Amino acid sequence: MTLVGKPTFWNNRKRYYDLKSYWINRFDCRVYKLPIDAGFTCPNRDGRVATGGCTYCDGQGSALRQAGALPSVGEQVRRGTAFYRERGKAQKFIAYFQTFTNTYAPLETLRVLYDEALAEEDVIGLSIGTRPDCLPDKTLALIRSYAERHHVWLEFGIQSLHDRTLQSINRGHNAATFCEAVQRASGGPILICVHIIVGLPGESREEILETAREIAGLPVQGIKIHSLLALRGTALGERYAKGEIALMTREAYVETVCDILEILPPEMVIQRLTADGYRDIFLAPAWAENKLAVLNAIDRELSRRDAWQGMKWRKA
Ligand code: SF4
Repeated sequence: MTLVGKPTFWNNRKRYYDLKSYWINRFDCRVYKLPIDAGFTCPNRDGRVATGGCTYCDGQGSALRQAGALPSVGEQVRRGTAFYRERGKAQKFIAYFQTFTNTYAPLETLRVLYDEALAEEDVIGLSIGTRPDCLPDKTLALIRSYAERHHVWLEFGIQSLHDRTLQSINRGHNAATFCEAVQRASGGPILICVHIIVGLPGESREEILETAREIAGLPVQGIKIHSLLALRGTALGERYAKGEIALMTREAYVETVCDILEILPPEMVIQRLTADGYRDIFLAPAWAENKLAVLNAIDRELSRRDAWQGMKWRKA
C-alpha cells in the first residue's frame, strides 16, 4: 500500500490537523468557540420525533440553563469574549450554538438569535449544532446566507453510520437521512463537522472504522470523536450501572482513534478527540476524566506506529 505523506500545510508538530492549527492557518490568530445555550429544545425529546432522547444524553442542557433563567445570546457572548480576551487565550470568536438542536425554531427566531451573536465584537462566525432531520430547505438557505458573509460550521451529531446502532441508541433518524443532509448542505460556503462516538454498545472496531471510512468519503470538513461516557440520569448510564453494558478501555479507545485518524482525509479538521465536561453526573469510564492523559496517549500511539492522519486515506 502506498502511504500518503504527512502534509506540510498543517503547520504544526502534531500527527493530525487539530483545530488550533486550523484557526491559525485560516485567521492567523487564536480563535475560540464560545458555547452558547440559546434555549432550544430537541425534537427527539419533545415528542416530535421521539421522547426520551438519545440513550447517552442527559437532557439537562447547559450548566447555565440549570442555574436558572438563561442570559441573552448577546450577554453570553460578551461574558465569554471578555473572559478569553482578558486571559489572552483568543482574539476572535465563533459563537457555538451547542445546546440541544439549534435549528429547531421558526426561521425568524433563528435569524434573530444568529444575528444577535454575530453583532458582538470579534465574533467572526457561527457553529450550529443540529440533527440531520431538522434542517428544512429554508433553514439551510438562511444558514447559507450567513456562510456567504461569515465563517460558518454546521455540526451534526451522528455518532454512528450503522442503522442498527442508531436505532439502539434512539437517535430517531437513520444513516441515509444524515448522508442526505450532508449532501444538501455541502457544495457551498457552509463547513460541515460530524460527531461520532467510539465504543457504542454492540459495535465492533471494524464497524466503527466503517463509519469513519464512510465519513471520509463525504464532503465533511471537520470531525469530533468522543468516547462513550456513562452518565447518571441517562438510559445508557442505567444500563451501565446494572452491568448490562461494558465500556471501552483507554487502550482500545486510543488504538481505535489512531486507526480512524489514519483513514480520514488530511484536510479534515480534528475538532475533538475526547469527551469532556459532565463532572456532576459522570459515572464511567474513569480514564475519560483525564483528558490530557488520553490526548497524550493518542500522540504516543501515533508516534509508536509512525502514523498520521490521512496516511491510509484513499480518495474515492
Ligand atoms: S439529538 Fe442531541 S439533544 Fe437531542 S436527545 Fe439526542 S443528544 Fe440529546
